[in-house]
Amino acid sequence: MAFGLNIEHYSLYIDGQWVNPDQRFEVKNKFTGETFATIGLATEKEVQLAIESARRTFDQGGLSPYQRYEILKKAAAALLAQKEELARILTLEAGKAYKESLVEVERAAQTFEIAAEEAKRIHGEGIPVEASPGSENRMAFTIRMPIGVICAITPFNVPLNLAAHKIAPALAAGNTVVLKPTSQTPIVAAKLVHILEQSGLPAGYLNLVTGSGAVVGELLAQDPRIDMYTFTGSPAVGLNLKNKIGLRKALLELGSNSAVIVHADADLDQAAKLCAGKSFGNAGQVCISVQRIYVHHDVEKEFLAKLVQETQKLVVGDPFDAATDIGPMISEGEARRTENWVQEAVEGGASVVVGNKREGAFFYPTILSQVQPDMKVVCEEVFAPVVSVIGYSQLADAFRMVNESKYGLQAGVFTRSLEAAMQAAKHIRTGGVIINDASQYRADQMPYGGVKESGWGKEGPKYAIEEMTEERIVVLNLA
Ligand code: NAP
Repeated sequence: MAFGLNIEHYSLYIDGQWVNPDQRFEVKNKFTGETFATIGLATEKEVQLAIESARRTFDQGGLSPYQRYEILKKAAAALLAQKEELARILTLEAGKAYKESLVEVERAAQTFEIAAEEAKRIHGEGIPVEASPGSENRMAFTIRMPIGVICAITPFNVPLNLAAHKIAPALAAGNTVVLKPTSQTPIVAAKLVHILEQSGLPAGYLNLVTGSGAVVGELLAQDPRIDMYTFTGSPAVGLNLKNKIGLRKALLELGSNSAVIVHADADLDQAAKLCAGKSFGNAGQVCISVQRIYVHHDVEKEFLAKLVQETQKLVVGDPFDAATDIGPMISEGEARRTENWVQEAVEGGASVVVGNKREGAFFYPTILSQVQPDMKVVCEEVFAPVVSVIGYSQLADAFRMVNESKYGLQAGVFTRSLEAAMQAAKHIRTGGVIINDASQYRADQMPYGGVKESGWGKEGPKYAIEEMTEERIVVLNLA
């Protein structure tokens, strides 16, 4: 393969060495479609070596909590120091608006900082076994031990911060890691590994293998030397992974068709502004993007007019342009799939309020009304800048419609009523209920993860560390 002069070349990272396998693959600039980088294509040999390194390093015993804290803290600072360069890579390989890429880097630094702090407070608890008759002379406490070798598999849409949400808590807890990012956006992962190397992470703690899920992912899934998998991606691939790994543990962060309720007493300006930003940001390719908006009939017309107004303010274009809010989708194929889903909805009676225009990989922000619950744009994860607005009369009906989904990641509720907010918290079955904001809200320290087909287990460093450690009870017989 011959490559132009300006193309950047990246490598795998195995056992503390940057490794170049025989073959490489190209990574495209998602706006221009041109190749901007290449990275090594791992074969079975490199996957084996990476797992072997992680296993040996873990088995040899490792870094103290304070050493882990220091490395993670340095990595957080390095992420901020390299903010512009990392944002450049994110915008090139994911097509994300540059201003959003900068925010992603800042959040990844936060994730590392929070994980660094958590590394110093991993602890168990005293268990009063002496309260059981016959155990009067015993004492007990729990300790939390690292689980071992963790395989982290990451998606394209938030490729830096979601890798951070796996690597940082895994290392904080004393595990070793094999990272496989998606082949659509592997370069920022290589940059992150380099930052950790520069921050003092010794060889073997973090290994990077790049290549397709069908080959590299499957090899990783089959290897018994891996103790746990932490996966973020689509439900179909998550289910396939779960079926392959037997009884080993998996943390699965999957998709959703997230909903927002706009109640009759809501601040409609606030709701419209936040819903527009959070339906269409990152071209709708966020697992908690707003996909369904249930709005009370009394305010439906007014809200829809405001939502259209806010949507029309969003600038679609070159993701490096400072004014741009929305760049291309990850591929033209994904934009075409979106176009087909909208077309199918229109044929079934849906109305296009605004949008429904595709240019190459760009899909313009689209608002639909008159949709039916069984349309793909409503019941499947659209993962595109498309939102449906649906009216309701009774709050209980809105809760029911929100819950009529195979997914359950997060939901948003706009209301000025404390009672309505608390009813929502109790009756909406999702991993998170966000009051007076859209479903798409995440602070990096909070427990984050879905119910139903949105996944298993929580991220957020403190919660991911719980998932990535084993609780062990220690009982002392003092008699
Ligand atoms: P995807 O197609 O499922 O890919 C995710 C990862 O799995 C990639 O690294 C992919 O590698 C790998 N993979 C593919 N086939 C595999 C296999 N057979 N075995 C092991 N790994 C395999 O997801 P995506 O399109 O990148 O991301 C979008 C999805 O992620 C959406 O459903 C979104 O909702 C979800 N997501 C969820 C969260 C959350 O926190 N809940 C956050 C962000 C995104 P290759 O791409 O290299 O083949």
